Amino acid sequence: MSQDEALAGLAGRVIHDQVVAARAPWSHVVRRGETLRIVDLKGNQAVDFLIYALADDAERYSLQDTIAAQRNIYLRTGSVLRSSEGRPMMTITDTSVAYHDTIGGACSRESNTLRYGHHTKSQHSCVDNFLLANAAYGRTKRDMAPNINWFMNVPVEADGALGIVDGISAPGLHVDLRAEMDVVVVISNCPQINNPCNGFNPTPVRVIVVA
Ligand SMILES: [Zn+2]
Repeated sequence: MSQDEALAGLAGRVIHDQVVAARAPWSHVVRRGETLRIVDLKGNQAVDFLIYALADDAERYSLQDTIAAQRNIYLRTGSVLRSSEGRPMMTITDTSVAYHDTIGGACSRESNTLRYGHHTKSQHSCVDNFLLANAAYGRTKRDMAPNINWFMNVPVEADGALGIVDGISAPGLHVDLRAEMDVVVVISNCPQINNPCNGFNPTPVRVIVVA
């Protein structure tokens, strides 16, 4: 994929452009009015995502407020990502993936050993990444919150059952998020290898911020 394709449709001046390695954490301040684009470089890579208000990180992304306000469980173009105070934090201004998940949660050592066996205990997880990235801001386990899973396919069946199945993303697809307040975004480029959320092969993603 050329640089031009990754930037297609993005208006404004690029002020940050970085590849987040497979399995790695990443965090960045995105100011009100700036847009963060996340590009799924290789396809089917789950990107676990938290948002905290820069002014007071007691206010953070809330899946309950987001789902209740939009009356839909999936995140699509136009979805407003709301805080624990019900305020808009970011808006999905564009995405080339049909829908994204905010129900499936983040993988952890605890869930891995429960689901996949004790031999997975030393495998790296999204909760490890979140704790590592948040430590730079003085946040701890108390500050973990339910997250978004960009590019992850968690279909909800007619009876309400959840699945974690093969992705509907593909190489080069993206999601654009416009900040509605000054926020700190925290990413775990998901290291999971025990289910299909990363195609059993975690890969890098690209993050671009335009002002
Ligand atoms: Zn994960």
